[in-house]
Amino acid sequence: MSTPQTLHFIANEHLPSQSGRFFDNRSPVDGRLVSRVAEAGQPEVDAAVAAARAALHGPWGRLSVQQRVDLLYGVADEINRRFDDFLQAEVADTGKPHALARRLDIPRGAANFKVFADVVKNVPSEFFEMATPDGGQAINYALRVPKGVIAVIAPWNLPLLLMTWKVGPALACGNTVVVKPSEETPSTAALLGEVMAKVGVPAGVYNVVHGFGPDSAGEFLTRHPGIDAVTFTGETRTGAAIMKAVADRVRPVSFELGGKNPGIVFADCDFDAAVEGIARAAFENTGQVCLGTERVYVERPIFERFVAALKAKVESWKLGRPEDPGTVLGPLISAEHRQKVLGYYEQARAAGATVVTGGGVPEVPAELVGGAWIEPTIWTGLPDDHPVVREEIFGPCCHVRPFDDEAEVLRLANDTPYGLAATVWTRDLQRAHRLASRLEVGVCWINAWFLRDLRTAFGGSKLSGIGREGGVHSLEFYTELRNVCVRL
Ligand code: NAD
Repeated sequence: MSTPQTLHFIANEHLPSQSGRFFDNRSPVDGRLVSRVAEAGQPEVDAAVAAARAALHGPWGRLSVQQRVDLLYGVADEINRRFDDFLQAEVADTGKPHALARRLDIPRGAANFKVFADVVKNVPSEFFEMATPDGGQAINYALRVPKGVIAVIAPWNLPLLLMTWKVGPALACGNTVVVKPSEETPSTAALLGEVMAKVGVPAGVYNVVHGFGPDSAGEFLTRHPGIDAVTFTGETRTGAAIMKAVADRVRPVSFELGGKNPGIVFADCDFDAAVEGIARAAFENTGQVCLGTERVYVERPIFERFVAALKAKVESWKLGRPEDPGTVLGPLISAEHRQKVLGYYEQARAAGATVVTGGGVPEVPAELVGGAWIEPTIWTGLPDDHPVVREEIFGPCCHVRPFDDEAEVLRLANDTPYGLAATVWTRDLQRAHRLASRLEVGVCWINAWFLRDLRTAFGGSKLSGIGREGGVHSLEFYTELRNVCVRL
C-alpha cells in the first residue's frame, strides 16, 4: 500500500507544493511512516494568504452573523460525525492514548466552534448617548469588525484542540485564516479542511499550509504582508522570533507560550484528590501539556507520604499502545524531543537528585523500539536554581520539594520567569483565595487541574504569553472595535 500524503488546503482544494517537496510524518509509537507531508514554500503561502484575502471580501464577508454561526455549528457537528477519523488521525501523529484523545482532544475540537459561535451571537454592543456642543444630541455605538486574515501557528501537544481554539473564534468573528500546524502533527488540520468544504464554508476561509518554522512555512506566513494578525501557541523563544517577524508591520499578536508551573500541596488537603490531581498535572499526555506541573511543593508534615503515594500512583499507570484500553501514558512526540527530555534526566542524576521513580527509557516490546518511549520520573533533592527546576522540560517528570509555610511557598512558586498556571491543594479557603491573588499566573486552580470553561479568560503572564483568549476575551483579539457616531 502506498504511503498516504498530507497536502496543503488552499481555497477548498488539497494541493501539493509547486516544488514537489515532501517531508516524513512518523509515528512516535514505533517510528513507522504515517504520511508524507507537502512542504510549503513561499508560493503556497502566497496562494493561501491570497485565498484568505479574497474570501474575506467575498462570500464570507457577506454572510450575516447568524449564517456564520449556522456554518460553525455545522463544522462542530461534522467533526462529531467523523469523530473516529479525527481520533485515528490525532493518535497516528501524537501516539497519545485513544482514551485521552476521546475524552479531551476531539470533543474540544468540536466544542471550540460551538462555544465561540454562541459567544459571537450573544455579545452585546456598547452604546452612548451624548450632548453636542450646540445643544443637540448624538449617539455612539460600536461595531465589531473582523481583523482580517489571521495566521494561526499551532504546536503539536494538543494539535486539534489548540488549533481550533484559535480557528473557532477567528471564524466566528468573520475573519479568514491560514493555519500552519506543527510539522509533527499535520493530519487533523488537513482533515478539518474536508469538514469545512463538506459543510459549505466558502473557499478561502480556512487554509492550511504545512512545513517547519524558521525559513519555512511558519516564517513565510508570519512575515507575509497580507497577514493582519498572528495568533500563536508554542515555545517562548518561538514567540520572540514571531514578534520580530511582525515588528516592521506592527501587526498584533496573541501568544500562549511556555510554562514552569507550580503545584502546591498543603498538609490539610484532601490527600487522595491531591495525589490524583498532581499525578495528572505532571504526567497526563506524557507531560506534554503547557499547563502541566513540573515543580511540586508539598508541606513538610505530609512530604514523605505524598512522594510515596505519587510514586505508587504513576507506577500503576500503564505505558502502551494508544489503542490498548489499559494505556494511560503514550510516548513523547518524537525522538528529538526525547533526546531533550533525557538530557534533563541526565542533568538531574549528575546533580545528585534522588530519583524516586523512572529516570530513563523503559523496556518495550521489539515492535515499539523505534518509538519515543520514556519513563515517567519523579525527583527530590535538587537545589532551587537547578535547570531541571527552572526550565520547561515538557516531559513526564516533576521535582518535589518540601516547604514549611505559606510565605515560603509563595516565594518559591513565583521565583520563575514564567507565569502560566498554578494548582493549589488545601481545605483552607481563605488561604486558597490569598494565594490565588498573589501567585503570578494567568490561571490558578484550587483543588483542581485543567478544568476549563471556554468562556473564561485563558493566557499567561510574564514569559508565558501576551493577551487573553476565551469567551468574550477572544473578541478583543479577533475583532476591531469601530465607533460610529450619529448626529441626531
Ligand atoms: P514550537 O514553538 O517549537 O512550535 C510551535 C509552532 O511554531 C510549530 O508549528 C512550529 O513549526 C512553528 N514555528 C517554529 N519556529 C517558528 C518561526 N520562527 N516562525 C514561525 N513559526 C515557527 O512549540 P512546540 O514544540 O510545537 O510546542 C511545545 C511548546 O508549546 C511548549 O513550550 C509549551 O509550553 C507551549 N504550549 C503553550 C501553551 C499555552 O497555552 N500557553 C499550550 C500548548 C503548548
